[in-house]
Amino acid sequence: MRRRTDIETEDLGNGITRINEYDFVNCYLIEGENSAALIDAGAGMADVGAVVKTITDKPVTVLITHAHADHIGGAVWFPEVWLHPADLRRGKAYMKPTWRAYFLWCHRYKKKTHKVPYAAAFQKDYSPVIRELADGQAFDLGGRTIETVLTPGHSPGSVIFRDSLTGATFTGDNVNLMVTLQFPGGTTVKEWIVGAEKTLETAGEAPIWGGHGDGRIPRTAVERAIALANEAVAEGNEKNSKVKTKRGENRYPMVVYRADKAL
Ligand SMILES: [Zn+2]
Ligand SMILES: [Zn+2]
Repeated sequence: MRRRTDIETEDLGNGITRINEYDFVNCYLIEGENSAALIDAGAGMADVGAVVKTITDKPVTVLITHAHADHIGGAVWFPEVWLHPADLRRGKAYMKPTWRAYFLWCHRYKKKTHKVPYAAAFQKDYSPVIRELADGQAFDLGGRTIETVLTPGHSPGSVIFRDSLTGATFTGDNVNLMVTLQFPGGTTVKEWIVGAEKTLETAGEAPIWGGHGDGRIPRTAVERAIALANEAVAEGNEKNSKVKTKRGENRYPMVVYRADKAL
């Protein structure tokens, strides 16, 4: 781990770097022979774009797993990002400086270890060009391609990306140790299961990298989360929108969903 004030980077080998902003959210930089892909842009508190430039001087394509503010906020450091159209409306809202200000406030207690240039988050108030990502779309980086798989659940336009060189899969928040389906725009639990199964099929035995924590998502945790989700579906829909949580034996994995959105 290389400490860089508000951002830490971890070399995962094979030209893949995990970029962690504020011990909070992960982006992944994947380098090919001709160009690189950045999967997610972070919350926009720290200048992820500047950090990317210290790792590679190749052109970078920015691919967003879903339009929540902690993954798309940092898009403001780049001229152009790719996002699935089902997440477009929220994406535009979540790039606004108020969200970056909110995250800075949430993480203010980290000031001592993260020497944050507070003003930086507010300096950028433009929106980058958003290009529409399609299911199955592939990005050729030279010697490796990044493939897009649509997996609605955590948000309607959630996608995962697969690196052809290593087989590694990058899931954002859709498949995580804590699966959260209760946010506005989240699908039913039943719909999430389809995408989660697709994720396991896509990943095979290769590593699955998520958007939070240290990024490591064991395949067994995804299998367990799917089992918990199936329990929720079997219990059926309720009439109220109460948020319910299914927990694994050791707290994680966890599936959080709305009682009226099981089926
Ligand atoms: Zn999210
Ligand atoms: Zn997130």
